[in-house]
Amino acid sequence: MGKFLPVHVDSGVDLNAFYTRGGGGEPPGLHFFHEAVTGRVYFSGESPDVACHEMGHGVLDAIRPQLFDAQTIEAAAFHESFGDMSALLSVLQVQSFGQALLNETGGTINHASRLSRLAEQLGAAIRVQHPDAVDRDCLRNACNSFFYRDPQTLPPSAPASQLSSEPHSFSRVFTGAFLDALAGIFRVQGKTPSPEGLVKASQELGQILVGGVLGAPVVPDYYSQVAAHMVQIADGAPFGRKYRDILKSCFVRRGILSLQAAATLSSVKRRIVGSSVRLERAGSEGRKLPTASISAAQYGLNRAALKVYTAGEPKRFAVTSSSLTLGPVEPRSPQNAAESYTEDLFQRGHVDVGAHAHRVAGLTHPFSFKTHMIVEENGELLLKRTTFDCGFDHKGN
Ligand SMILES: [Zn+2]
Repeated sequence: MGKFLPVHVDSGVDLNAFYTRGGGGEPPGLHFFHEAVTGRVYFSGESPDVACHEMGHGVLDAIRPQLFDAQTIEAAAFHESFGDMSALLSVLQVQSFGQALLNETGGTINHASRLSRLAEQLGAAIRVQHPDAVDRDCLRNACNSFFYRDPQTLPPSAPASQLSSEPHSFSRVFTGAFLDALAGIFRVQGKTPSPEGLVKASQELGQILVGGVLGAPVVPDYYSQVAAHMVQIADGAPFGRKYRDILKSCFVRRGILSLQAAATLSSVKRRIVGSSVRLERAGSEGRKLPTASISAAQYGLNRAALKVYTAGEPKRFAVTSSSLTLGPVEPRSPQNAAESYTEDLFQRGHVDVGAHAHRVAGLTHPFSFKTHMIVEENGELLLKRTTFDCGFDHKGN
C-alpha cells in the first residue's frame, strides 16, 4: 500500500468501519461511515476506539502481512483483537484519561471501566437495531470471562453474551487476557498508581505484543503461538523476567496456553539477549503462506476446487491451548482449519464469487458485506481477502 494509509472519514451511510488493501471495489485505507439512528447521527470515525481499531488492522498488516490471507479462524480473530488491543494501548497515552481511569477503578484496570468498554457510542447505535449483537454497555467489553475453545467447535454466529467462531466474537478471548496482562504489568511496577505508570505499562506490553507477533508462526492454533512468543519476550531483556509469570498466568487462566504448554515454556532456554527486545521475523515480509486446494462443490462455484492460503508456517514451540476436557487441545491441520474457516465465510455470505457462481447451485447472498473475493489465477480459482470489516454489517441481516 506504500508509505501512507489513506483515511476516508465518511464513506457513506452505515454503522460500519473497515480496513482494506483495495481490490474489492473500494480504495485502499481506513473507511468510516455515518448513519442516523432514532434521530441522532453516529459517525464511526468520531470514536477514538474505532479509529484506533482500524489503524491496528493497518499496523498489523504492515508488520505481519501473511495474516491478511491466512485462511484460519484464529488469524482473523487475532486481527480483530489486535485492533481492540491497539485501542486499549492508544488511549492510555492520554494522561488525563489515565487519571480518570485510576479514579474510576482505584488502580485495578482490568475492572469494567471506560478503558475496557470499547466503542460505547457505536455499540449504543447498533444496540437499537440489534440488541443482542453487541455487549449491553459497549460494542465489546475487554473485561470478560471468555475461556478458550477450539473455534472449529463453536457456532458461526451467536449473541454477544456467548462465544462463536465469528472473528470479532472469538477475538474477545485474547483481548480479555491482554487486559488482564496490562493490569498485572501495571500492578507489578509497585509504584503509586499514576498516569505515567499506565503509559509505561502500555508501552512495555505493546513491545511484548509486537515481539510476539513477529516471532509467532501463522498456524491454525495461532493464539497459543503468539502467547508463547510473548512469554518468551517477557522472559528476556529488557524485562528481566519480571512480567513472565504475569503473562503465563493470564494466558493459562484463559486456556490460551494449556498448563502443559506453560510448563514447557519454563524450560525453554532464553534466546533473547542484549539490552533491547530483538524483534524477530519468523515470516519475512515477502514470504507468502503456502496454498492448498479444497473442495468447492458445496460453495456453489463453477469449479470443483478452490485454492486458499493456509496457516502452514513451521512452529518453534510445541505448545497448544487448553481443551475443555483434561489436557491440551489437539491442533488442527492447516488444511482442516482452512476448510472450516472457508465454510464460515460462505455461510455468512462474505465471499464475492463474481462470475464464478454455478448457474444453478450458486449462492450469492446479495446484501451481505463482502470481505473476500474469488479470482482466477493461472486457470485456478483462488480465495483472497480484500477487507477486514469491523462487524457492524447489519444490512445483510
Ligand atoms: Zn476490525
